[in-house]
Amino acid sequence: MPELPEIEALAAFLRERITGDAIAGMQLAELSLLKTVDPPLEALLGLELTGASRAGKALVIEADGLSLVCRFARAGWLAWHAQMPAAPVRMGRGPLGLRVALASGAGFDVREAGTRKNASVALVRQLAEVPALAQAGPDALALSSADFAAALAGTRSRIKTVLEDQRVLAGIGNAWSDEILHRAGLSPFAPADGVDAESLHAVMRAVLTQACEALVGLPPDKIKAAKKRLLRVHGRTGSPCPVCGTQVAEVAFAERSLQYCSGCQTGGRKLSDRRMDRLLR
Ligand SMILES: [Zn+2]
Repeated sequence: MPELPEIEALAAFLRERITGDAIAGMQLAELSLLKTVDPPLEALLGLELTGASRAGKALVIEADGLSLVCRFARAGWLAWHAQMPAAPVRMGRGPLGLRVALASGAGFDVREAGTRKNASVALVRQLAEVPALAQAGPDALALSSADFAAALAGTRSRIKTVLEDQRVLAGIGNAWSDEILHRAGLSPFAPADGVDAESLHAVMRAVLTQACEALVGLPPDKIKAAKKRLLRVHGRTGSPCPVCGTQVAEVAFAERSLQYCSGCQTGGRKLSDRRMDRLLR
């Protein structure tokens, strides 16, 4: 799932290209993608685009008082067209969810690969009309060290769970929480209230800021591959840790897995799946 740095890069790319352009046409190819009915999607027609930004892990396309909020889920992403394809959109076939054509002749698609359709688009007047955004905590890059410390002190949940909890802080998911904890030398299962919050906050900021710097400037079709190259442990089970050389280990469960380095993070101990079950509760 795209997280804070990837969405930041996507928003930066779009901001440069769509601001001042206008919406000339829209085609919803996957009806279940759109989660709102008022205002209708047609309300966007002819509106000037005023910007693009990020809210947590969501992309926000701004059009003269209305916000098109795109949440990509695990397999969703955006495809940019410098020139819109001429071929007509086929309903409910393949990854295309929503096609937006701009007055300039450019445009973009919201796409989702696979058969699971979990991505969503909402057209709203206020971001708080999107339940996930209304419930979200402060942005991971805006949260102060003191507020981060207060959030951690209030819970004995595993630190991995807390970092990914969008109600506590917004923007971090499975990949960047693995990376932050590796850089910090912390077990994903460490109880949050026992962690040195000040140093973890500094590491979190450094990891996210460096990832943003590496990804901003790339086009949408290059961002996901560039992200993968930045990851040191996440998705790298069996590879040597670039810090200590230990083989990266994983804890797998039904829907996903986490990766960590036992050399850097757990004093050589292997984490068991049984403890993962407890983590999820
Ligand atoms: Zn290591």
